[in-house]
Amino acid sequence: MSFVTLDMIKKYAIAIHGGAGTILRVNMNNEIEQKYKTALNESIMAGENILINSGLAIDAVEASIRSLENNPLFNAGKGSVFSYEGEHEMDASIMNGKDLMAGAVAGVKNVKNPITLAKSVMQYSNHVFIAGQGAEVFAKQLNIEMAPNEYFFEQMRYNQLIQAKSNNRVDLDHVDNKFENSEKKFGTVGAVALDIFGNLAAGTSTGGMTNKKHGRIGDTPIIGAGTYANNQTCAVSCTGHGEFFIRSVVAYDISCLIEYKGFSLKEACNLVVKDKLIKIGGEGGLIALDAKGNIELSFNSEGMYRASKIANENVYIGIYKD
Ligand code: ASP
Repeated sequence: MSFVTLDMIKKYAIAIHGGAGTILRVNMNNEIEQKYKTALNESIMAGENILINSGLAIDAVEASIRSLENNPLFNAGKGSVFSYEGEHEMDASIMNGKDLMAGAVAGVKNVKNPITLAKSVMQYSNHVFIAGQGAEVFAKQLNIEMAPNEYFFEQMRYNQLIQAKSNNRVDLDHVDNKFENSEKKFGTVGAVALDIFGNLAAGTSTGGMTNKKHGRIGDTPIIGAGTYANNQTCAVSCTGHGEFFIRSVVAYDISCLIEYKGFSLKEACNLVVKDKLIKIGGEGGLIALDAKGNIELSFNSEGMYRASKIANENVYIGIYKD
């Protein structure tokens, strides 16, 4: 039997994102804004419910991401975008900061919650990263919930594919030219958490990019690019134009700046998001959390769907640049 003594009890913290991009107040109406806020709040609550009951950061990350994957507002799980072939190929990854264990899946179809499959790869396989059909076979072996194509069909996403094809463009989650400031969003979802035992964890899940080529994989399932967690440094989950995030090894870069250069979490995020990424044209953002419970919600785009909660404090929810 294991006891939790008082000196072991630290503050827990959690942060989530639902994608970044050209998210402008002028293009939003109250009803839609409220829907996003409700979804972000529900996701925070799903994770917090685990942390407040002395659960582990890795389980909180999974719970928060599942909540977003089940909501068609976001480009992950149910709301995943269409590929060029009119399919949904989803990517996800998760990492445990305590032992540096990680799991990832890429290009999976018909898996209701890819983050749960990524966690199962970490827990029940000898591998870190399984792609495509192999990952689907593994999911079926473990009785992970599958869903038919119709479950993932959202008319709005299909319209985005038609639009992207007509412009001969690989689009981010969403580009809407009906607005004066053409709207451009990445709707990937992610979570980072710190549990009362001092463990950090991070996870990210996405449908990728509209009209992407069959087999294209972004940063989301790549450990070190879209997701990273290490109890000694931080937990990071990214959203943005994946090709740039892969080339910049964004999540691990943040961790390295802390580990090798003694940067604070804020300094590391500022350098990577507001300087290094911008210089190579990488639009997007990330959420990061360190073992002291410091949270950074950093982006170089017009907005990022984001929320955070520290034990005994109020929930913070943000959409636009402040
Ligand atoms: N990073 C994701 C990708 O490139 C897209 C996103 O963040 O929405 O697949």
